[in-house]
Amino acid sequence: MDSSVRVRFAPSPTGPLHIGGARSALFNWLLARNYGGQMIVRIEDTDLERSSLESEENILDSLIWLGLDWDEGIKKGGENGPYRQTERLNTYTDAAQKLLAAGQAYYCYCTEEELEAERQVCSAKGELPRYLGRCRSLTDEDRSRLEAEGRKKVIRFRVPDNEDIVVKDLVRGDVVFESNGIGDYVIVKSDGIPTYNFAVVLDDALMDITHVVRGEEHLSNTPRQLMLYEALRITPPSFAHVSLILGRDRTKMSKRHGATSIEAYKSQGYLPEALINFLVLLGWSPVGEEEIFTLEELVEQFSLDRVAKNPAVFDSDKLNWINGQYIRKSPVERITDLAIPFLREAGYIKGEVTPDKYEWLKMVVASVQEHLAFVAQITDHVGIYFDDCIQMESEEASAALKDDDVPQVMAAFRQKIVETEEITSENTKAMLKALTKELKLGGKKVYMPIRVALTGKTHGAELYDIIPILGREMILARLAQTVGI
Ligand code: GLU
Repeated sequence: MDSSVRVRFAPSPTGPLHIGGARSALFNWLLARNYGGQMIVRIEDTDLERSSLESEENILDSLIWLGLDWDEGIKKGGENGPYRQTERLNTYTDAAQKLLAAGQAYYCYCTEEELEAERQVCSAKGELPRYLGRCRSLTDEDRSRLEAEGRKKVIRFRVPDNEDIVVKDLVRGDVVFESNGIGDYVIVKSDGIPTYNFAVVLDDALMDITHVVRGEEHLSNTPRQLMLYEALRITPPSFAHVSLILGRDRTKMSKRHGATSIEAYKSQGYLPEALINFLVLLGWSPVGEEEIFTLEELVEQFSLDRVAKNPAVFDSDKLNWINGQYIRKSPVERITDLAIPFLREAGYIKGEVTPDKYEWLKMVVASVQEHLAFVAQITDHVGIYFDDCIQMESEEASAALKDDDVPQVMAAFRQKIVETEEITSENTKAMLKALTKELKLGGKKVYMPIRVALTGKTHGAELYDIIPILGREMILARLAQTVGI
């Protein structure tokens, strides 16, 4: 156990927490918990235009809902705060001044038009657009003249020539980048705000981060960050870049593939443990065949060496399967509590849920719990318990009430219902059996018309589950409506 492990989740608050971000947070969290180390949450809000407190709240709420807590950071405090980058600007300014003084960074006065012209030059040569160094060797006079023109200035890092920058990635092995392919990049923008690549290095260093686990989309930033570590003479942390998450059509996961924010899954009645279980399998593979894990089991089993290099595919059927497993295992009260808002929204529940009503709702939920992939689906299954007016779902259903035996079956069934003091699953089973015997009819001839008369459907949950949930009053009302007795 290496309890000195310090990892971080460093979201940019430019939108809600998405599947990819949640997976990064989870992998970091598991690593910290697995090693008995520390998890830090830091807010990277240097994109002033796109960052918002609302997104920050959403991200933090989603982390908490998922059960991913942190030891240090935003809202929690700690020795290395503040934990929002816009509150740490002095740190970056000081470091930038040091790099300027050492000649490792310089002021650049290029205008947007000049930069665009450079990009054109690169494209014309078939090269990747990069800064070609117009301001690399300005004299004091040049600078005074440009300042006098009132030009805005940024600070650029002076990228060393002809170097191979090797990212020793814990998932991907050594990934080599040529410094010549990387133009001098901006570390402080003209408004004095640092860029991501600069702020992230200083913060990871000052917060003593030992492992940076993040999405593959950041791999190309890592050589830029490594150059800064070198220039600042700081030992870099270890890096692990986790592969992209693709949709089933193998393109990068996006809204087109369905919901991507954690909040959207929460609001459809997915369970946090199920999402965690699903997320961990997006890139990590367990040793055995088992795919359902508690958080404790994951903490014990997780390791970076079982994180795959190839992309993970987001399969919503698998998520539904996993979530269904967790719903089935949950106490009925939990699913009932989650179901109530959906039932309300569907107009099935009006007014207060009294204790009696709650007990009844639990029976309703229990009857469909094993069929739910996510709780919002409940409204598709429980109409039969709430609808005031029963509609025949098909020709087949209507036909089932037209047999010659039907009046006799219905009358006998009604009589039993009137006579039974307390209608339970147990005595309903016995009652239905007795009915077939007394009427001397095959099971189907008895069960089908009863089912159709009570629900309007030819298929569904077991009759002995449906009947006690409907209860005497509702059964008599339905018989009156559907078969006129
Ligand atoms: N703020 C970055 C993001 O949200 C974090 C990248 C990193 O983990 O270094 O993508």
